[in-house]
Amino acid sequence: MLTKPKGTYDILPNEARIWAKLETVIRKVCNLANYEEIRTPIFEAYETFHRNEDDSSDMVTKETYDFLDRGDRKMTLRPEGTAGCVRAFIENKLYVLNKVTKLFYLGPMFRYERPQKGRYRQFMQFGLEAYGPKSPLLDVDIISTAVMLLKALGFMKVRVRINTLGDKESRNNYRNVLVDYFSKNIDLLCSDCKQRLEKNPLRILDCKIDKENVILKNAPKISDYLNDDSKTHFNKVLEELDKINIKYVVDPHLVRGLDYYSDTVFEIEYESDVLGNQNVLCAGGRYNDLVKDLGGPDIPGVGLAFGMDRLLLALANENINIIKPKMLHAYLITLGNDCSDYGLKLIYDLRLAGITCDMSYTKASLKAQFKEADNNNSLFTLILGEDELNKQTINVKNNQTKEQVTLNISELKGYLIKNLTQNSCHNCGGNCHEKSTN
Ligand code: AMP
Repeated sequence: MLTKPKGTYDILPNEARIWAKLETVIRKVCNLANYEEIRTPIFEAYETFHRNEDDSSDMVTKETYDFLDRGDRKMTLRPEGTAGCVRAFIENKLYVLNKVTKLFYLGPMFRYERPQKGRYRQFMQFGLEAYGPKSPLLDVDIISTAVMLLKALGFMKVRVRINTLGDKESRNNYRNVLVDYFSKNIDLLCSDCKQRLEKNPLRILDCKIDKENVILKNAPKISDYLNDDSKTHFNKVLEELDKINIKYVVDPHLVRGLDYYSDTVFEIEYESDVLGNQNVLCAGGRYNDLVKDLGGPDIPGVGLAFGMDRLLLALANENINIIKPKMLHAYLITLGNDCSDYGLKLIYDLRLAGITCDMSYTKASLKAQFKEADNNNSLFTLILGEDELNKQTINVKNNQTKEQVTLNISELKGYLIKNLTQNSCHNCGGNCHEKSTN
């Protein structure tokens, strides 16, 4: 038997409805905050993600799916959304000087990681990206949109962890201080951190192995090495978060895995025992040089990415149900071949009028067909037998009130539309028929 690749999953119909709803809420929130959708390829040129030798992040060094296409071009399945967005932003000249461009994307990402709960090799991310003059207000726009999404989904127990890495000058000062400090204590660091000391000493600060190590706890803090510009930027971000009542904790050890971040970095966490260290739902920060580094103009950016899989796990963990039960407006039961042939045309006409409906396509018994109507949670059951067909009538049972009426077939569409609009459509409260009744 063929099986799915390790670290991937099938989304079955019940789950697909939850995914679709999540995507709907995301689109709604993005629309509220004026982020427009961008769709970029799932694979890009290798260099889009592997930009320089100094990049020490696991994602870039160990986890990308790289391959040669049939024309011997080196390609990479995208492990994240930002680089592809920036590439598209530059290539399509989406920039307007001194204006802000706000984009969102959602789709699958690929990383060759060790699979576990909440960590897959193909997973879904949703991300926001904003390019334009470096404004702390834009950092807050991004964070507040993420918080708004979590609220729209019904999350209460979330917190923003935030830090600044400063601008280039501040970061270089801090980097030197850190190298000096950790070099003196190198024997007390884990083997990964020993390597990080060379390539990216800042990343030692968020080492999961050395988390409780006093050497890390007592390490110098970036806040003492920020220049005035960096300090002003970060303080303004915090001030604005306070003003709009978004709760945060400043975590001086938050540095983020990717090497392109500068100034503000943040994570939004969900307080959970079940997800263990997988409880980070969203992470992001400012990347002032990325557009320039990828060959574009000198336009800073700020962005974030949500792990949609973890978002759904957290929703399940919190018992938050974002979808209503599956339902149909009508289910047609037929008795005999002539009736089912006629029925197919009937339900096609109803569907054209916006009525969700289905019928049995097998020669199932009456009892089995009633069961199907039940399984589909249909609001109305339509019963068409030979007698009714000859008289061009149909029996219509309202499954909520249990009321049954016999109608002329020509009246059926109008009857259903009227009744669904008035009160009974528990999926939409009747709104889905507004159009067809106009
Ligand atoms: P990153 O792009 O590494 O900053 O990750 C952003 C978000 O994507 C994280 O907060 C996770 O929720 C999610 N994420 C990252 N890697 C995986 C993975 N392998 N499987 C599922 N979700 C992931």
